[in-house]
Amino acid sequence: MPLGQSRRAQEWQGAPGNGVSQGHTPSIQSGMIHEILPVGMLQCNCSIFGDEKTHEAIVIDPGDNIDAVLAVLQKHSLKVKTIVITHAHIDHIGGAAKLKAATGAPVLMNAKDQELYDHLDVQASWLGMENPTKTSIDAEAREGVTLTLGDKTGDAATGDAKPGVTEFHILETPGHTQGSVSVWIPSENKLLAGDTLFRDSIGRTDLPGGDGRQILRSIKKQLLPLPEDVIVIPGHGANTTIGREKDRNPFLQNL
Ligand SMILES: [Zn+2]
Repeated sequence: MPLGQSRRAQEWQGAPGNGVSQGHTPSIQSGMIHEILPVGMLQCNCSIFGDEKTHEAIVIDPGDNIDAVLAVLQKHSLKVKTIVITHAHIDHIGGAAKLKAATGAPVLMNAKDQELYDHLDVQASWLGMENPTKTSIDAEAREGVTLTLGDKTGDAATGDAKPGVTEFHILETPGHTQGSVSVWIPSENKLLAGDTLFRDSIGRTDLPGGDGRQILRSIKKQLLPLPEDVIVIPGHGANTTIGREKDRNPFLQNL
């Protein structure tokens, strides 16, 4: 958590002491562009994934700073295919309407967070923020949904017959909110954990829709069975791995 943010902001985020933000971190592996932009007052980690060949992109949690998100998309000549929301807290969803208006891409969110999204104005007033424009949710991010980026026909240039498709699996991980989801990307060995799991912490559960036992059940059932070397990109703060959190996260030691 960077210094200088309000205590209220820290309380909202619910991830005390989870280290410095990794900042603007471009990385390209196996033809997949991935940039993480900490956006807005609460520095929500917005992820931009882009396929280098097809130039299609998936944006996860465009909470704010949509101009910066659009600049990254433009830099890599990416066209947004899907916008995914891990949960309907304003710091994760606040910029969704603006990004959808700019790109035409559909917005996916779990239906159990619709009520939270309906009360975006209340969330804004809690934080003393301007009330952002809302948008319609176009499809549901629910367990079993798989999004893809890439080319299903393989790579003729290199003679590689294997399709260069990256799958993004939606995992339902309720507890921080009832509609919280995580996104598991097996070929990248990455998990976007929203505000469910942080480095050394877990999401707060005392806001409307939160459930302390449920978040632990979600982590145990959906996240801890993933390989230990999976890179976890939380909704705020520094990256970690499943193995590190299994070993060291104080909230997970009795699971
Ligand atoms: Zn949240």
